[in-house]
Amino acid sequence: MRKITVIGTGYVGLVTGTCLANLGHEVTCVDIDEERIDALNDGHCPFHEPGLLSLIKSNLLEKRLRFTTILKKAVHHAEAIFIAVGTPENEDGSADLSYVKSAVQNLSPYINDGTLIIIKSTVPPGTNQKVREWMQSDSGRTFHVVSNPEFLREGSALHDFFYGDRIVIGSTDNNAGRFLEDIYSKINTPFLQTDPLSAEMIKYASNAFLATKISFINEISSVCGDLGADIEQVAQGMGMDSRIGEQFLRAGIGFGGSCFPKDTKALVQVAQETGHPFKLLSAVMDVNERQKNLLIDKALKRYGSLKGKHVAVLGLAFKPNTDDIRESPGISLIKRLQKLGSIPIAYDPVVKNIPYCAVNNSIHEVLSGADFAMICTEWPSISDLPLDVYENTMKEAVLFDGRNCYAREDFEGRTIEYHSVGRQPYE
Ligand code: NAD
Repeated sequence: MRKITVIGTGYVGLVTGTCLANLGHEVTCVDIDEERIDALNDGHCPFHEPGLLSLIKSNLLEKRLRFTTILKKAVHHAEAIFIAVGTPENEDGSADLSYVKSAVQNLSPYINDGTLIIIKSTVPPGTNQKVREWMQSDSGRTFHVVSNPEFLREGSALHDFFYGDRIVIGSTDNNAGRFLEDIYSKINTPFLQTDPLSAEMIKYASNAFLATKISFINEISSVCGDLGADIEQVAQGMGMDSRIGEQFLRAGIGFGGSCFPKDTKALVQVAQETGHPFKLLSAVMDVNERQKNLLIDKALKRYGSLKGKHVAVLGLAFKPNTDDIRESPGISLIKRLQKLGSIPIAYDPVVKNIPYCAVNNSIHEVLSGADFAMICTEWPSISDLPLDVYENTMKEAVLFDGRNCYAREDFEGRTIEYHSVGRQPYE
């Protein structure tokens, strides 16, 4: 059992802190957001993550987990401190390290001699070294900085913590690396020990590769759509090749979330600084921007103008099983619909309020007044919705499906008009 502090209680910090407590460690989570800490102490989870709330409650009850805004108190006894604050993008696409810098500078006067500082936030290669310099200034104590990038996926974060594919530990000090291995020792996941620069690069390269796979299949889907081939059949055939694999071969209206877009742009910046223009990744981002416009472009082709049209937008979260709408294709779609003079109304099973348009948690009510519907997120309550519902609820059932939730054969003998990605429309 170790005394651990986690700085930042966002998706990564809160999951990490709670799961480490569940492994038996004594964990204190710190955030500068007082409202969030109060809510957590009252047993509320600030975001939707399946299974997390009950794990928070049970570990609070066992007194293995604490939440506070008082850094000094939290850091004083810690043997290991995880940094899990945000690293949003700067205007030029590079990573904004100001939260990381402020977090480590603030804790530096309070740490014990020999404390392990673990960087969990996604940071550009070279940040481990910067963190050492930022901490050096006034603490006068010895410490070790280890890079331990996070690979969890929102929506399956607990599973990913306990059953991840790998735990990457980037360290120049073998003892520090072993100490971190010991913290994770109850998890049956392979460790990969690397140098810090390589650990930082592994995270960016992994996200950039997954983003590339998505943009690649989206490019293939455009060609399929023009040719009359079916992207679902093509992706299935490609995915059966074990060198390619079936994951991340789902054509759709692009990737979103707080990681892929920002990390891809940050890697382009990192490459630029080394004198290497990363043309492939620039294209990946361009394709993704184009893809976000796909459904509206199809609707414009179908209707000519979308002015005054009532549009049911199905799904706001950037993917199912989360309430995260950061960089969500559904949100970009709503903003563009509004610019075109349409009246969007949204349904999402967990996102209840957004500043952009009305949200209703009854999919039937959202569909009933709509001229057409657009699927943005493949939540089960959307992807499993019987087609009868569209036919019986809408004046004229027209569906633009940005996640290919239905098979084309499902539409045989039906009155519903169906437009999807990389397949011929069913009219
Ligand atoms: P988030 O925005 O959800 O949470 C960040 C939290 O840090 C906020 O609650 C904020 O108040 C807090 N914070 C900021 N400065 C602080 C300080 N000085 N002291 C204490 N708390 C502070 O971010 P997130 O989604 O959890 O991501 C965190 C990092 O992990 C990012 O670098 C991100 O790229 C990376 N990451 C995210 C995911 C994901 O799926 N969300 C997955 C892997 C890696």
